[in-house]
Amino acid sequence: MKLARVAEPFHLQFEEASVPDLTEDQVLLKILCFGVCASDMQIYHGKHKYCAMPVVMGHEVCAIVEKTGKNVKGFHVGDKVTIEPQVTCGECYPCRQGRFNVCEHLKVIGVHMDGCNCEYFAIDPRYLHHVPQDMKDEMVALVEPLAVGVGSIKRSQMFKDGNVVVVGAGTIGNFVAQAAKGLGAGKVMVTDINQKKLDYAKECGIDYAVNTSACSLKDAIEDAFGDRKADVIVDCVAIPSVFADIIAAARPNSEIILTGNYKAPVNFEIPMVQRREISLIGHMMYVWEDFEDAIRLMNEGKITISKTVSQVFPFSQYQEALNFADEHPDDVMKMIIKM
Ligand SMILES: [Zn+2]
Ligand SMILES: [Zn+2]
Repeated sequence: MKLARVAEPFHLQFEEASVPDLTEDQVLLKILCFGVCASDMQIYHGKHKYCAMPVVMGHEVCAIVEKTGKNVKGFHVGDKVTIEPQVTCGECYPCRQGRFNVCEHLKVIGVHMDGCNCEYFAIDPRYLHHVPQDMKDEMVALVEPLAVGVGSIKRSQMFKDGNVVVVGAGTIGNFVAQAAKGLGAGKVMVTDINQKKLDYAKECGIDYAVNTSACSLKDAIEDAFGDRKADVIVDCVAIPSVFADIIAAARPNSEIILTGNYKAPVNFEIPMVQRREISLIGHMMYVWEDFEDAIRLMNEGKITISKTVSQVFPFSQYQEALNFADEHPDDVMKMIIKM
């Protein structure tokens, strides 16, 4: 079978490998397609903080069960599945509380260990979620990023019937906003400086899509929501200057959810948080239920993905796809690579 490995920054190496041997407890997957994530781009650029090269990326997957080990229950040849790529210890305190996403020994398939940028992949079935057999392949590959959106908004205690503002209209921001609406938020606003991504957020049914190159985040929020402002602001941008705007725009007694991956430290006035009783809430990926919610929302037709998939490339042109993403960052939402 073929696989693609990031051998060094900006360089994919295509290799011929044998189809993995199965243990009696594993499932062999035939990969149908996978998504390229912002974190994949960080790995590919050699800028991912927690990933060492060489590595086979790939954690947003649509696959079919090709073969099952003899002890495997609940999965059969031909089942359509996606992977929840968190490998957790199951023993640390967060794991015992069911917060596997913040396991003290968390590893992610396709980041800390080889992933699914290959034709066949052997895996323990506990990492698999069934999806409806008729769900489109590309939609199945989008379940993982949508689960990030679900996991993000569910960190909030205030989003139900509340005013939610999502800063950043890329794939994750778009999915946080759509998940918020699908799970019962009141009004949802998305902000960005990329008008194309904002227009798309509008098409996805987001109530407000505001270009903050023309006005401040604070004004945008007050114009739309009056003195109640935002109950929740979700940061999907992770840029220090934007964080300053978020702090300035936040209302006393509101929540700020940190979903984007910051690459640099941020300086800010702690009294702006302390004296106004703002909750700064960290967020990391998802738990099992978030994945199931994502599959349900997708299946109920509550998520628009007409333009979320911005490009589709065959596996043979994966290197060209990554080059394209580097050359046209504003035109890329989610790239799908088909096997
Ligand atoms: Zn991802
Ligand atoms: Zn753990």
